[in-house]
Amino acid sequence: LNSELEGLRHLPAETTDGYVLPLYLNTGLVTESRPVGIEESAGVGLYRTELPFIVRDRFPGEDVQMKIYRETLATFAPRPVTIRTLDIGGDKPLPYFPVSESNPFLGWRGIRITLDHPEIFLTQVRAMLRAAIGLENLQILLPMISTVGEVDDALQLIQRAHDELWDEGLAVPMPPVGAMVEVPAAVYQAESLAKRVQFLSVGTNDLTQYLLAVDRNNSHVAELYDELHPAVLRALMEVVKGARAHGVEVSICGEMAGDPLAVVLLVGMGVHSLSMSAGSLLRVKAVIRGLSRARAKEWLASVLPLEDAASVRRRLLEAIEEIG
Ligand code: PEP
Ligand code: MG
Repeated sequence: LNSELEGLRHLPAETTDGYVLPLYLNTGLVTESRPVGIEESAGVGLYRTELPFIVRDRFPGEDVQMKIYRETLATFAPRPVTIRTLDIGGDKPLPYFPVSESNPFLGWRGIRITLDHPEIFLTQVRAMLRAAIGLENLQILLPMISTVGEVDDALQLIQRAHDELWDEGLAVPMPPVGAMVEVPAAVYQAESLAKRVQFLSVGTNDLTQYLLAVDRNNSHVAELYDELHPAVLRALMEVVKGARAHGVEVSICGEMAGDPLAVVLLVGMGVHSLSMSAGSLLRVKAVIRGLSRARAKEWLASVLPLEDAASVRRRLLEAIEEIG
């Protein structure tokens, strides 16, 4: 089987009816100078920036961050690299930024922290914009968005960082900016978000956690955590619908994008791209290459009446068997 997958390495992620679904990499969880999967990916769909903040004993400065971001941007250029602004809090605390909360996942997290500390946000965005000079493949992604006001405020700060750099003589372009959809509120405001940004990226790890009220890291409730829960599937369809109203593309960047079973449904829903860890690329590509969009839509339609994740999974195993 592995050699069969190896044969797919240089083939496009194209459905049998000729539709190409670009597959991107998730990076940033480990410090790798050359991430695996570079050649066969369309770029980076989610670059998590927390690690350089977690391993230090203070906030890294603009120059330090700039060098780190430039390494990834240069590695993948001219392909796009989507860098997410700092998503600390929740399950990712910083040793030098102590926050004590009884409900960290519902608390001071991601964009909420960086908008309350615009100096952290501005430093990071300035580092990203400088890192992309001459490469022009930067996209910026905003985590944990739950109101349109957060997007407006973040866009204003990005504009400010951009204008500052121009004043300093650095003619950096404004990058495309996207919002993460990982809070139920964002699902139902997908259209309002799509009006403001260039793309949406669904973080199914958090979205599943928040939709099902199941802590993604708590083993006592691990059995309840399931991305194939019908509520999650309906939420994703709602996001695609909202984005489509403004011609904005939807990417999936949670673990779900790397699950071959889920990919059958994601193709059927009409998502525009998938971003996953390197280890999933070839298996996902094999599924896409064995499917037509029409067949994926049929599988999706056949799954929608099902009432629990176990039934959805059983149906999708049939799909995978058909694909072979
Ligand atoms: C997600 O929530 O699905 C996501 C991609 O972000 P993270 O896993 O870093 O929270
Ligand atoms: Mg998340």
